[in-house]
Amino acid sequence: MRKENTEVLIIGGGATGTGVLADLAMRGFSCLLVEKRDLAHGTTGRYHGLLHSGGRYAVKDPKAATECIEENMILRRIMPHALEDTGGYFVVTPWDTDDFGDVFMKGCQDTAVPCEEIPISLMLKEEPHLNPKISRCFRVPDATADSFLATQSVGEMAKLHGGKILTYHEVKRLIREGDKITGAVCHDLVKDEDVTITADLVVNASGAWAGRIAHMADLEVNVRAGKGTMVACNHRVVNTVVNRCKMPADGDIIVPIQTVAVMGTTDDGVPDPEHFAIEPWEVKLMLEEGDKLVPGFKNMRMLRAWAGVRPLYQETKVADTRDVTRAYTLLDHETRDGVTGFITITGGKWTTYRQMAEVTADRVCEKLGTERPCRTAEEVIPDPFSPKRRDKGGYHYLGARLARMEEQQAFRDLVCECEMATRADVEKAITEGDAKTFDDIRRDVRIGMGPCQGGFCTYRVAGILHSLRQPTIEETNVALRDFLQERWKGVMPILWGPQLKQERLDELIYMSVLNADHLPGETASPLGPAMYEPGTVEEVPEKAAR
Ligand SMILES: Cc1cc2nc3c(=O)[nH]c(=O)nc-3n(C[C@H](O)[C@H](O)[C@H](O)COP(=O)(O)OP(=O)(O)OC[C@H]3O[C@@H](n4cnc5c(N)ncnc54)[C@H](O)[C@@H]3O)c2cc1C
Repeated sequence: MRKENTEVLIIGGGATGTGVLADLAMRGFSCLLVEKRDLAHGTTGRYHGLLHSGGRYAVKDPKAATECIEENMILRRIMPHALEDTGGYFVVTPWDTDDFGDVFMKGCQDTAVPCEEIPISLMLKEEPHLNPKISRCFRVPDATADSFLATQSVGEMAKLHGGKILTYHEVKRLIREGDKITGAVCHDLVKDEDVTITADLVVNASGAWAGRIAHMADLEVNVRAGKGTMVACNHRVVNTVVNRCKMPADGDIIVPIQTVAVMGTTDDGVPDPEHFAIEPWEVKLMLEEGDKLVPGFKNMRMLRAWAGVRPLYQETKVADTRDVTRAYTLLDHETRDGVTGFITITGGKWTTYRQMAEVTADRVCEKLGTERPCRTAEEVIPDPFSPKRRDKGGYHYLGARLARMEEQQAFRDLVCECEMATRADVEKAITEGDAKTFDDIRRDVRIGMGPCQGGFCTYRVAGILHSLRQPTIEETNVALRDFLQERWKGVMPILWGPQLKQERLDELIYMSVLNADHLPGETASPLGPAMYEPGTVEEVPEKAAR
């Protein structure tokens, strides 16, 4: 069996785990991160895309609000390349109460979230598609984030300081010797072999899976998986993040992300963070609630639906997952359970990942008997694509790819027309990005994420991958099939109207012309997607009905 040794082993390659790795590496620890798929494969890659100002929690969860605004300001400084400075509104629609605006203002003041009320005429000038019946609008410093790019950048920062990342390494069991955790046994999914990793300390940063990992050491950590479903429409119908001004509820935010707008989310407890359905009621509710913010939204072309699972830590049972605090939790299993060598960091938000990493790394220092200051709030994280994606202020901006293409006259090199990804982008993801699947390439360069959902780029990527890596024909075929399946997964819940026509075209290309389902090779690989369960519930449950 392969063996590795490190001072600190981190489990989970989402925002939190990658943040912990970078923080520890920058403090000079030898550290290694294992992730069962690609970085940002979990909730981090399936979230709503908001860098919260804290406004959303200002009334209901003031602690979370303060954490968000503190981190919002820091992330704007250290990773502007992964953020778009969209700004945010909280709006009172005819379905909300005017008075809540005052409660909201007060909450923002108490939690130091900058907030100003603006005239509706100004709001409509800036966002002409918003509902003209909106009666109040508050401006807050919300922004959007590309969590794939952010996680990759943080991972690169960690590597620059000596941190090590093993993707496609799934923890199968923790090594427990008496009351001490001394490492983990992982399975390398690519090489199909086990690896034993020993460590002085193990950090469990596996998000909604944290309870399962802790269970491997016979420890009980109660993390509820709160599933949230979102739908993307094919236009950027707003350029500002628009939140409903009311207590947090289902379907109350619309977020402009790259070329699309994403409406979300639901919040439904699921027993298994890996297997769940996107229910028809969830899609229906997102369309109906979206229509209240942007009239006509429900008739627009939807491209895709997807869901992520919130890691919601709780010591006592709470029926509605929205009543669980969004603030994070650090569990020291030595003081909590009498088991040394193991700590868990869970809960929180993408927005607070850096702070979560800092408190975790502080605890690691304490446990390993050393004092090393945190530097992650000061040091700017390099943009792996620098300087091509930058805008004034260092933020990403929507026109960056087009500007780059015009500058390089790269029109004929487009692999994905929807997302303007060039052959050079795809080649870089394959050769430098350590991509193991087409889906890894997608996370790096956004192939397949636009209106055609992979219709034209998938076979092009197959050709590039095949010529660069020269795998067997069967391996290329199965990788192509995995990706088609992955794209299909998110299209199924919204299959009507123009997107149905698009899928029919994609079907003709891949099934009728390329005969993709009968090409030599396995039907699917172990690196392929876990499909959603079939959705069965049509009616919006009472809790979610607005
Ligand atoms: C629908 C939804 C919308 C959200 N919207 C926002 C938002 O707009 N803004 C915001 O700030 N936050 C948002 N959040 C919250 C935020 O996305 C999460 O809090 C955050 O991404 C969690 O990151 P993480 O690294 O802790 O977990 P994850 O990203 O889930 O990372 C955990 C990783 O552990 C890996 N793992 C699990 N088991 C194993 C194993 N056995 N071996 C190896 N690896 C393993 C998983 O594959 C996963 O990649 C949202 C969450 C949801 C669900």
